Parts: sequence; C-alpha cells; structure tokens
Amino acid sequence: NKIGDREGIKFVPDGAEGPEVHTPEVYKKLYKTVRDSGYVGATMPTEFGGGGAPFTTAILSGEIGIASNMAFYMGPGLSHGAMKTILKKGSDELKQKYLPKLVSGEWMGTMCLTEPQCGTDLGLIKTTANPIDDHYELNGQKIWISFGEHDLTENIIHLVLAKLPDAPDGIKGISLFLVPKRLEDNSRNQIFCGGLEHKLGINSSPTCVMNLDNAKGWLVGDKHKGMEAMFLMMNDARLKVGLQGIAMSEIAYQNALEFAKERKQMRSVVKEKQDKDSKADNIIVHPDVRRMLMNVKSTTEAMRALCIYTAMKIDLAEDHPDEKVRESADDFAALMTPIVKAYCTDRGFQNCSESLQVLGGSGFTQEYPLEQYLRDVRITQIYEGTNGIQALDLVGRKLTMHKGRLLQNFQKEVQQFLSENKDDEDIKQFIVPLQNALKEVTASTMWLMQNGMQDPENALASASDYLNLLALMSLTYMWARMAKYSVGKNEPIHKNKIKTGTYFVEKVMPELVMYSQKVQAGKSSMMEMDVAEF
Ligand SMILES: Cc1cc2nc3c(=O)[nH]c(=O)nc-3n(C[C@H](O)[C@H](O)[C@H](O)COP(=O)(O)OP(=O)(O)OC[C@H]3O[C@@H](n4cnc5c(N)ncnc54)[C@H](O)[C@@H]3O)c2cc1C
Repeated sequence: NKIGDREGIKFVPDGAEGPEVHTPEVYKKLYKTVRDSGYVGATMPTEFGGGGAPFTTAILSGEIGIASNMAFYMGPGLSHGAMKTILKKGSDELKQKYLPKLVSGEWMGTMCLTEPQCGTDLGLIKTTANPIDDHYELNGQKIWISFGEHDLTENIIHLVLAKLPDAPDGIKGISLFLVPKRLEDNSRNQIFCGGLEHKLGINSSPTCVMNLDNAKGWLVGDKHKGMEAMFLMMNDARLKVGLQGIAMSEIAYQNALEFAKERKQMRSVVKEKQDKDSKADNIIVHPDVRRMLMNVKSTTEAMRALCIYTAMKIDLAEDHPDEKVRESADDFAALMTPIVKAYCTDRGFQNCSESLQVLGGSGFTQEYPLEQYLRDVRITQIYEGTNGIQALDLVGRKLTMHKGRLLQNFQKEVQQFLSENKDDEDIKQFIVPLQNALKEVTASTMWLMQNGMQDPENALASASDYLNLLALMSLTYMWARMAKYSVGKNEPIHKNKIKTGTYFVEKVMPELVMYSQKVQAGKSSMMEMDVAEF
C-alpha cells in the first residue's frame, strides 16, 4: 500500500504501440496472487468460469482487500461492475467472447462515463457512436477513467457511454458500448490514454484521460438505454464504495488502537490506573482518547452490519424464488444504497481523521499510514455519484418511488422489531433510542413531504441532513439487532458488542436529533443569499 502510494503510476507517452501506463513494480505479483485466488470472478456464474458465490461474499472479503490497499482493489472492483453489466445486458455473443477472460482476471474492465463537461450530468455527453458494418465507431474524450490504461492485463474491456446519431437530447439519448483495448486479431483498437491525473490520494490507481479516435465498439443492451444498463450495476457499485469508507475506517482504527496502547503521555486522573513503572500512562487511559476510539469503533461496526444486510437484500432481490420476497428485498436495497454510499464514506473520512488525531503529530507524518488513509478515502465521497447526489437520489427518487413504499416498509420492519422486543429489559438501552429515532424520522419525513411538495427547493436543501438522519436510525436499528443477538452470551465478542453498541446509542445516535432539526429548518437561510452576498 505504502509502496504503491510513494511509487505511483508512470505515464510513458512513447510506448511501442502508443502511450503506456506503468503500475508500481510490485503490483504485477500482487495482481497475479489476487487473480490466482479466484477473487476476481468469485461472484460470477460458473458457466463463465466464476465461483457462483453470492454478492454478500464479495462484500465480506472485499473489506479485507480494500483495507490492505484501496487503490489497487479499485481495479478488480470496477472490473466486477463491467462484468455484471455485460452479464445482464450484453448479447450472447458478447458474453461468450468477453466474460470468461474477465471472470478469470486475464482481462480487466472499466466504466467510462465522465467527460470534461459532464460528471454528475451525464445528459451532456458528447462522445459519439456511428454504426459501421457490424460495429460502431466511437469518437470523443473520457476523463478520470480509473484503470483506463495499465500493464496488469493484456487486454482492457471498456464500457463506454456515447450517443448515436439519432439520439434524443439528454439522459434518454445515451447508449452503452463495449470497446476493447485489443481487437480479436490482437491489433490495437483506437482507444488510447492521453495522460494521467495527479491526485490527492489513491496514487497507485491510474486515473486516465481516454481518447477515442474511430475506436471500434459494440452495443450493450438496447439503443438509447445506456443509463438503464448502468443502473443495473449501480446498487452493487455504490455499496462497494460505501464499503471502501468502512474498510478504511477499520484499518485506521486498528492503527490508532495500537498506537494508543503504546504511547505514554500524562497521568490518568485515577491513581489506581496509573502505571507505577512509568512516569506517564498509555494514552488509552484518557477519556478523550477513548471517545475518539469509541466513535470510530461503534460507527464502523454498525456501518459494516448495514452494508452486509443490504448486500444480503441485493442477493435476495436477484435470486429468491418468491417474487414478493424479491420485491421487498429490492425496495430495501434501493432505499439503503444511497445511505450506505454517502454516510459510510462521509463517516469513513471522519473516522480516518479521528483515528489520525489519536496519534497526534505522528499521525500527520509519513512514518505512519494514517495520512495516506485520509488522502485515499477522500475520493469515496466524490466518485460513483457525489454524496450530495446520493442525498438527492434518496429524497427525490427513493422516498417517492411506489408512493413511498420503500420507506414505509422499512419503518414497518423497525416497528415490528420494537413491538417484539419492547418488554425485553436486557436490551432496553437500545429499544428506547430506536423508538425515538423512528419518531424523528417519521416527523422529518412528514415535514419533507409537505414542504418539499409545496417548494422542491425545501426538499433539496434538507436532503443531506435527511440522509444522515435516516442513516443514524438505520445504524441504531443494526445495533439493536446485534444487541438482541449478543445479550446473555458469555463469549468476549458478545460482551464487547453490547458495550460498543451502548456507546453508540448514548454518544453517537443523539446526532440524529440535530439532523432532524436541520431538516425541518428548511431552505430559507441558504436560499435568501444573493450570489453576490456569498
Ligand atoms: C480519482 C477519480 C476516479 C474516477 N473514476 C471514474 C471512472 O472510473 N469512470 C468514470 O466515468 N468517472 C470516474 N470519475 C469521475 C467521478 O465519477 C466524477 O468526478 C463525479 O461523478 C462528479 O462529477 P464532477 O467531478 O464532474 O462534479 P460536478 O458534476 O461538476 O459537481 C460539482 C459539485 O456540484 C454538486 N452538484 C452537481 N449537480 C448538483 C445538483 N443538481 N444538486 C446539488 N449538487 C449538485 C456535486 O455534488 C459536486 O459537489 C472519477 C473521478 C475521480 C476524481
């Protein structure tokens, strides 16, 4: 991880067949190890050489990989998105031609959406695709394409959004194309890297300008339905970015904890806790250091639970034989995806920062990995749809979808848990906060519906605060369920869970009341400012 960060990526403009991108030397061996393990295609169907494992297993194992090297694991992660899109929308011919080698990891895939004039607003895409014989010719420029060019695999399969000559304006006029770096006869397709970005973090992940100059491509899915195809892998992809926030949070915590157990500064105010063999005590005795560690630990464990729970729903939504179960699982996953993506990455950044703080000045230096974690995790709040856009997705689409069914079903699930456990004295400290959280969410949702309906700017102004509010209720629910499972069990892990969850409901969950107040404060204080007054 550190080697990758320091060595970075090299752009070689005059390679044998055009511009080349060289990854850190150790990455070839690392990629081979990952590939040989079967990780890359573990969740793909066996008919294409995959392991046939549920998506949830990718979340469980993915956290470990990301925590060890987030920048590197972006490659296999994006490739998974490309594979899933081809699997769901590609023709049989495309599947047979491209999936086996993507699944085995012999080739890698990318997602090429962004252009200089459009990131959030993909309706502004300018890249064109013209039909020629059995294929299309694509022209245009894509920017910030992760793993757009590299030396880890001999071929790279790009999924590119572009417009056909007869495309309607805006988002409805976009189609999706498969554009391989190498064609079937192994000749070079006309898609080349035009340069690399120099970035704040993820320095070993190539972020490429990609120029398409009559590049050959093949349509994936129907004409003008490119965004539909993208949405198919969106839940998975966004959940995986949320997972990056969680993984970085976890590894930052582990480092902070180790430091806090060794660094000695000042005395504990409690005499019995003082180390008699030393002039100072380990900083973990100090309440404020514990506050920071517990903030990170209690949020990370709850976010992990929520992410895994959502991944399980994604699996159920895809494969359960009962249509009703599929529908309700899909509702849950759709509701939670923007929450996991945005909350877990915002909190992931905050947690990396708070973990760095535990180390004091040491955390700011390159001698410890915290400064890299903080730089690396920052991108997760931006890509795969910025966190602001996740909040708009939650409030503008998910809350109103199917007449509000998504949230109503989740509220019912929480209410049912509360009814079943209201008399359980052993987990009372979780039940009361969860009841309060549900009340706050209900009140703020009502406010949003009424005021957002009258004036949509009210809904947009409160969207991010509403997302945080619903996230905190969801995490409280996760803690209540974990507590229910752990209570009365004697193993240390269960006692640890009850203590950690209790910290969460006492010290983190109250933030929810603040977010509820902020939601209901509406838009006026921000929208009354003239642009010149900013
Ligand atoms: C390191 C890195 C890797 C990337 N990898 C890829 C990749 O592999 N493939 C790919 O296609 N792209 C990739 N991207 C691009 C990334 O997805 C975009 O940066 C992201 O979607 C945001 O677009 P933008 O940067 O153009 O910001 P803009 O769209 O210009 O947005 C700027 C700000 O305005 C806000 N905003 C915009 N519209 C609204 C609105 N209606 N309401 C409220 N707020 C709004 C945004 O939230 C943001 O804060 C990558 C970017 C980076 C930096």
